[in-house]
Amino acid sequence: MKNTVSRRSFVKQVGAAGIAAGISGISIKAAETKPASDPATEKIRNYKPTMAYRTIGTTGIAASVFSLGAGNIKVDVLSAAIGMGVNFIHTSFHYMNGQSLDMVGKAISGKTDKIYIALKDDFPSIEEALKVLGVTSIDFLMFNRHNAGDLKKELPSIKEKFIAWRGKGLVKFAGLTVHKDTAAVLDVAADAGFFTCVMPAYPPKQVEELAAQRDKLRQKNISILAMKSKGELNADDYVAHIPKVLADKTVSTIIKGVGSLDDLKAWSAAAVSAKTGLLHRIMNGYETAAYHGCAMCGRCEQECPAGIATSDIMRCIRYYHDSERLPQMAASEFRAMGLAQAALRCDGCGKCEAACPQDLGIIDDIKRAQSTLA
Ligand code: SF4
Ligand code: SF4
Repeated sequence: MKNTVSRRSFVKQVGAAGIAAGISGISIKAAETKPASDPATEKIRNYKPTMAYRTIGTTGIAASVFSLGAGNIKVDVLSAAIGMGVNFIHTSFHYMNGQSLDMVGKAISGKTDKIYIALKDDFPSIEEALKVLGVTSIDFLMFNRHNAGDLKKELPSIKEKFIAWRGKGLVKFAGLTVHKDTAAVLDVAADAGFFTCVMPAYPPKQVEELAAQRDKLRQKNISILAMKSKGELNADDYVAHIPKVLADKTVSTIIKGVGSLDDLKAWSAAAVSAKTGLLHRIMNGYETAAYHGCAMCGRCEQECPAGIATSDIMRCIRYYHDSERLPQMAASEFRAMGLAQAALRCDGCGKCEAACPQDLGIIDDIKRAQSTLA
């Protein structure tokens, strides 16, 4: 109940009603509201408050956590996805019997400043591919390789080709797509010192099996762009699975093929719905943990012998106050929930901190909340 009140008030104050909005058709009205100028979001292409964004490797480019694979796509679907805040599209010369580049080119016509393009290197001519897409350069040139030994041998020529194209301004960053011999190929890619991102097939089995590669990629700041993430899961289990994939910050985006407007509508409803939507969970849970530590898991307050709602205190001080920079709202929520009085009961026993999986200094944050928000 406390969460509901808080969120309602949060939505009202920041104007991001899209967080709570149901989907009515594809366009999300509230999503068109850009929050008061925020340097962090202004740098994000096609920013919508109902979408979450993550930086890809060392590039400084923030991709929407849901992006589109153009293997089976229509212009109206692509356009609608762009309206949702999607800013990343992956395509290939060979998709859709050679029609994909043309489709993408039509969908992004007049909107190329909103989109990043990832393109497989399987085209006969990069100049022709750029022309059909209607862009002057490819943001992520994805080398499509499925054999570790071959990749190792080919690396010098791949680098040479890429550097030559980059010198002419035709490409910006290098990535790699893989769906066979995946672990070994990713090992080579991680050590190459060249790729900013990798796009492996990433169904649940692979998520499990690629733990060592993921660690290596994380250490080298190489992002995973997850494709084919559904695997054998049914639709409901897939919806539940996605936040687990995104809980790993090595994953920048999930690339999804969406073949029709109805599919996109269903997908966006699942992604955005007010209480259970994936984006809601990501924005209010996993993303929160990324930006300011607290995952709002509630374990701390379960252990508190004084019955203090420590996770609410953490939300007020770390999320509303520190991260969202909404001091008035942080203070009014803190007072409205009676947290100032509750915090007085804290005797510093430390049980909350012992329970915290994020290892946060909860006692210091309680003191800070008392002095800042009470
Ligand atoms: S330190 Fe304070 S808030 Fe934490 S468990 Fe003990 S009494 Fe509760
Ligand atoms: S246990 Fe830690 S991460 Fe979980 S709600 Fe409490 S402070 Fe946040």
